[in-house]
Amino acid sequence: MTPPAEAPRDREFALRALAKHLEIERAFGVRSLPIPAESPIPAESPIERAPTSDSAEGGTETAAAHPDAGPPETGESAPREKPEATSPPPGEAPASAPAATDPKRAQLAAMSREVAGCTRCPLAKTRNLTVFGEGDPDADLMVIGEAPGADEDRTGRPFVGKAGQLLTKILAAIGLEREQVFIANVLKCRPPGNRNPGPDEIACCFPFLAAQIDVIRPRVICTLGAPATRTVLRTERGIGAMRGRTHDYEGIVVVPTYHPAYLLRNPADKVKTWHDIQLVQKLLQQGV
Ligand code: SF4
Repeated sequence: MTPPAEAPRDREFALRALAKHLEIERAFGVRSLPIPAESPIPAESPIERAPTSDSAEGGTETAAAHPDAGPPETGESAPREKPEATSPPPGEAPASAPAATDPKRAQLAAMSREVAGCTRCPLAKTRNLTVFGEGDPDADLMVIGEAPGADEDRTGRPFVGKAGQLLTKILAAIGLEREQVFIANVLKCRPPGNRNPGPDEIACCFPFLAAQIDVIRPRVICTLGAPATRTVLRTERGIGAMRGRTHDYEGIVVVPTYHPAYLLRNPADKVKTWHDIQLVQKLLQQGV
């Protein structure tokens, strides 16, 4: 029996998809270990033998050290109810976007204007542009970093430097475009020299992030690096102790992982973020 004419093209498509998948895994530092689908977060695998450092897992483009502390917590977050998604197409909402989205956009736009004029902390004097965040107001996934770096301060957009390019690849690894998630930082203004945010600065700025989360109500939050994780989860523990499992913020599942800027300096830990982002994917697929 003659095979369907589409068969060779199907094979070619499958081979291209496989090659793309392997390319993404290579980008994460995976060299030879297939990740079992039923075990996205395995115990320490042979390819994780490279030395780990949780002492520099921070968040701006050139983040400094954040000492890890304390044993891992045991808390797991519970699934929560969320109405059926009414996500518009990626990118800016067209005029025909679902009506349910419009109040969210209006709230975020008003908040963005407030942030642009904010002088609550001394960073207002040194910033160039505020970086409110961007993405889909109906996003199922919200990604939260630490603070804008130089590129972000110049453009007013989050994660546009080299760390941002890596974040784009990380999202692509689970089939997400940047426009399909909402990306924000704890601080909306760049700390001079990309130093770590001060506790007073975080205290001043966190209400903006809390309000963003409250408006967007994502299914999953992925915190990038220790400062963002510590702020959102109100913990002093390091990212090494917090990553690899779920936590809870106001009924929303939180998955901490390393900051892309840290991964650029410590590529051996990319495989751990690969595991974390697979956990995010699994949670989204489960419709938590
Ligand atoms: S960092 Fe936050 S609190 Fe400080 S000036 Fe900028 S927007 Fe305001």
